[in-house]
Amino acid sequence: MPSDLLDDFHPLTAIAPTPFALKTLQPLWQAYPIALWTPESLRGQVQAAAAQVQGYPGSLKEQLPEWWQSRALVFCLAMGAVVRLIAPLLQDKRQDPAVVVVDGTGQFVMSLCGGHQGGADRLTVAIATLLNATPILTGSANALHLPAIDTLGNPFGWRRGSGDWTAVSGAIAQGQPVHVVQTAGSTLWQSHLPDMHPFRFAEADGGIDDEPSAEMRIEATLQQASTIPTVYWYPRVLWVGVGCERGTPQRVIAAAVEQTLLQGNLAAEAIAGIATIDRKADEVGILEFCEARQLPLRCFKAEELRSVAVPNPSEVVAAEVETPSVAEAASLLASQSQSLLIPKQIVRMKGQPGAVTVAIAQAEQETIGRSGEIWLVGMGPGQLDQMTPAAKGAIAQADAVIGYSLYIDLIHSCLRPGQLVEALPITQERQRAERAIALAQWGLRVAVVSSGDCGIYGMAGLVFERLREVGWNGEVPAVQVFPGITALQAAAARVGAPLMHDFCAISLSDLLTPWEQIETRLTAAAQADFVTALYNPRSRNRVEQLAIAQTIFLRYRDPKTSVAIVQSAYRPSETITRTTLDALLEHPVDMLSLVLIGNRTTRFHHQWMITPRGYLGYW
Ligand code: SAH
Repeated sequence: MPSDLLDDFHPLTAIAPTPFALKTLQPLWQAYPIALWTPESLRGQVQAAAAQVQGYPGSLKEQLPEWWQSRALVFCLAMGAVVRLIAPLLQDKRQDPAVVVVDGTGQFVMSLCGGHQGGADRLTVAIATLLNATPILTGSANALHLPAIDTLGNPFGWRRGSGDWTAVSGAIAQGQPVHVVQTAGSTLWQSHLPDMHPFRFAEADGGIDDEPSAEMRIEATLQQASTIPTVYWYPRVLWVGVGCERGTPQRVIAAAVEQTLLQGNLAAEAIAGIATIDRKADEVGILEFCEARQLPLRCFKAEELRSVAVPNPSEVVAAEVETPSVAEAASLLASQSQSLLIPKQIVRMKGQPGAVTVAIAQAEQETIGRSGEIWLVGMGPGQLDQMTPAAKGAIAQADAVIGYSLYIDLIHSCLRPGQLVEALPITQERQRAERAIALAQWGLRVAVVSSGDCGIYGMAGLVFERLREVGWNGEVPAVQVFPGITALQAAAARVGAPLMHDFCAISLSDLLTPWEQIETRLTAAAQADFVTALYNPRSRNRVEQLAIAQTIFLRYRDPKTSVAIVQSAYRPSETITRTTLDALLEHPVDMLSLVLIGNRTTRFHHQWMITPRGYLGYW
């Protein structure tokens, strides 16, 4: 199966109460591992490779409480009926599943509730992509092309704190200014906002002109009293260094960490992980604490810890574990920070065994807490309807989209508010690959966009090569390739069926390939009578290669061999020139052209370039 666009939403329950609904949802249940529910009487109609099909005996209403436990529900049913059904079960938007409604004809997919936190908006876009339908999102942030305030930090793994989310979202919908204080975590999101946005950044602006009506605080510190509606996000930036006597129970460790956090007015939600010495990797209390709080444990060797300068080294500790500091050194190493937020605290609890040392440092980059992915996406020749739905879906789902600026402009309508969109100049392929890898290693899902197919003179190879260079294990970050229509297919389609027999592609760019090699391949292709697609036939500084290619071909081919030059296929400036090998140089060829040289049997019939396959005899 290709990439599962629905991956993020399992367990996903789809409900098809009628034969029509079953048909409308078929592209979903046939190909994806979802739980499909249909009346008992219709079960026989389903032959699905992936879906788990279940029949419900009674009414939808009786069944719904069970389905409500899913992450997401997709109904193919009248909107009104769905509203009545789910109304008694709705609690609050932090807990409710995503509810999506598909209309009976499959033309529209509507995000009904759980739009932000439940992910219904993203699921709606994914399903619309799979059904080739129009997504309908009615959230106000969407209309303003802003990231929703209550999902803003999700890509970065921030934890949502308390606060008056409804009031702050309301202020944004009203276009009122929202004061932002960010003292922790990545500020990358700030530079990817639309020109008109309501956020006022205190530090950068050197003061706030408008009287803010609401506030968003992105910090590692505990919330403060505020006179205006305020919401809190906690990036996971705190590395808690822990050392303890052998056998110290979990509750003592937990109490020590809490006490230390409190001392610095720090939020437990902002903890990225626990750091210690490797000989504590099996310390039961620490392991239980990490397990209970779902925190990663990072262990360092004594010699690594020894190399860190700390404010409170201890000779006693050094004598015991070969480093004068565990808690302080480990928190500094894990956070890659130079200084501590809270120096070493030694905590004992009355009546409890053991002792704990705790120190806390703040990392510049937050822990996202999941492993990132790289999606190598081919966007086709340039017109959006020539792009595969899977590729569109990948772009819509990605946290970050990286590509050459022209291509980013072309896919503009697939982008979603809140995405990090990084357009780089055409020459910076290497930087694009490195940036994509860095973001994915951090934990983001990154789409790298190439025109045509990404694996044909595109970014895919470069990203893989670079991954290999940095010692990639083949799995983390996960990589997926989304194929696209390459220029030779696009050009061929515009002129007929020139690729009906064996063909090859040769790029005339000698930027990365020695010219002798290109000449060798041109000679072989000409000699072997391949239909040949010439990519990169000319650039601003490179004009003579096409003439050499023509000379080579003329050595082995008839001068009257059919040739098509397709410029900017599927773009508004598309032009097509039909000519012969000997006249090739008389026509304009530019950087965005593809030259198709037929084989000895290729002919034009009116405007159509046809290479016989041999059905009607030619060979
Ligand atoms: N990955 C791309 C190729 C990139 S190399 C693909 O699979 O199509 C760039 C070359 O591709 C251009 O010099 C041109 O030869 C060709 N090309 C790309 N888009 C094209 C288009 N829309 N029409 C004609 N040729 C195109």
